[in-house]
Amino acid sequence: MNQSLADRTIEPKTTPHERQLTVVKIGGAAGIDFGPLCDDIAALSRQGRRFIIVHGGSDATTTLSRRLGLEPQFITSPSGHTSRRTDRATLEAFQMACRGIVNQELVRRLVQSGVNAVGLSGLDARLWAGPRKAAVRAIEDGRVRIIRDDYTGAVERVDPRVLTTLLDAGFMPVVSPPALSEACEPINVDADRAAAQTAVALGAQTLIMLSNVPGVLRTAHDDTTLIRCVLRSGLASMDAVAQGRMKNKVLAAREALEGGVSRVIIGDARAASPLSMALEGAGTVFA
Ligand code: ADP
Repeated sequence: MNQSLADRTIEPKTTPHERQLTVVKIGGAAGIDFGPLCDDIAALSRQGRRFIIVHGGSDATTTLSRRLGLEPQFITSPSGHTSRRTDRATLEAFQMACRGIVNQELVRRLVQSGVNAVGLSGLDARLWAGPRKAAVRAIEDGRVRIIRDDYTGAVERVDPRVLTTLLDAGFMPVVSPPALSEACEPINVDADRAAAQTAVALGAQTLIMLSNVPGVLRTAHDDTTLIRCVLRSGLASMDAVAQGRMKNKVLAAREALEGGVSRVIIGDARAASPLSMALEGAGTVFA
């Protein structure tokens, strides 16, 4: 065999299926109907696309906590990030809401659409691991308070084996927080950033984050100010634009791109075919 033919016959490192792997993070905010979204995921997966679904459970945790008589509390860090105060009782409510309510509802709805969906949390097979914060700094009445009994952290290591095993066997993984701390405790982690780490670890080409807004808005609550495209060179300028809960999504987008994901899209989960629309570039595209 001459050299040029040998060059042409080198096997690609990834199969066509792997090249089409997309991680989809589904938001849980008000106004999102899982029905049309799951039908859309099912239709696209019948066309041969492979998906890993990731979700959080912030709003479900707030609702369940209140039903359990625990008033939800949120803390704002000195850098302006808002997060749930997660003491032991709140951690349990968070686990029940994420894995017990949201995960099972998504799996149920996907199964109804004909998808072989399998629910997992970050604890399963050490899928999501990372350090628990030893201390959380919170601004209270203009002063910094140190909280030491919070069960929060961030995903730093993804063990992809359980996901690749499921994908190769034709199942669609649906992954929920919590993650696993170094001391094997469950920890509350941001699902957008966990989805980004998952996309990086699996070598996914695309990360889609679907929420209850059309994308990143230059002026929050004004849909006419949708930012359609953010180039890598313009990522830093987004810090000033994204406020509140949009901050984590922009951070997740940056982490995914830096980790080798080619395209990140923040799109609208309320659209008629939300995933198809986002894959076609509706929303804010980071590239
Ligand atoms: P989800 O739970 O769907 O993942 P989040 O509630 O965490 O989503 O984040 C989306 C929210 O971010 C929106 O509902 C909106 O209120 C808020 N937000 C803040 N700033 C912006 C912005 N510049 N553009 C769009 N949404 C923003």
